[in-house]
Amino acid sequence: MPTSGGCLCGRVRYEFDGVPAAALNCHCSLCRKAHGAAAIAFAVVRAKNFRWLSGVEDLASYNATSGFTRQFCRHCGSQLVVLEDWNPRGVTLAMGSLDGEAGITIEGHMFVGSKAPWHEISDNLPQHRAWPAGLGPPSAARSEEQD
Ligand SMILES: [Zn+2]
Ligand SMILES: [Zn+2]
Repeated sequence: MPTSGGCLCGRVRYEFDGVPAAALNCHCSLCRKAHGAAAIAFAVVRAKNFRWLSGVEDLASYNATSGFTRQFCRHCGSQLVVLEDWNPRGVTLAMGSLDGEAGITIEGHMFVGSKAPWHEISDNLPQHRAWPAGLGPPSAARSEEQD
């Protein structure tokens, strides 16, 4: 059974097969602004296992940082995926857009170095100052972190 998700208004729908390679809460300032949230749960799935079911024409894109394309529904504003130029084989999807139970558990926090000062992390999961090992661009200089 594929895992499915979509935007608030229902125009944009997607699904993917298999288990995500990673699932983390991102605390960076760009994700916080884009989603209007304290932290954003992301899952990284293989691009070949991911497909849009409907509403591709309703997607809008925004590049806050070169190399990162944030795609969202142009009608309801739901943030859906982040495409990363250096990782064409992966799709980073906003877990808040998943339907119901997806069998995915958050395994840690990233970019806690730029966490909102008013937000307290209250679990014991690993915290990474920026990217965890194995994620992120090859050059650390292209970090998405922005204090
Ligand atoms: Zn929508
Ligand atoms: Zn982020």
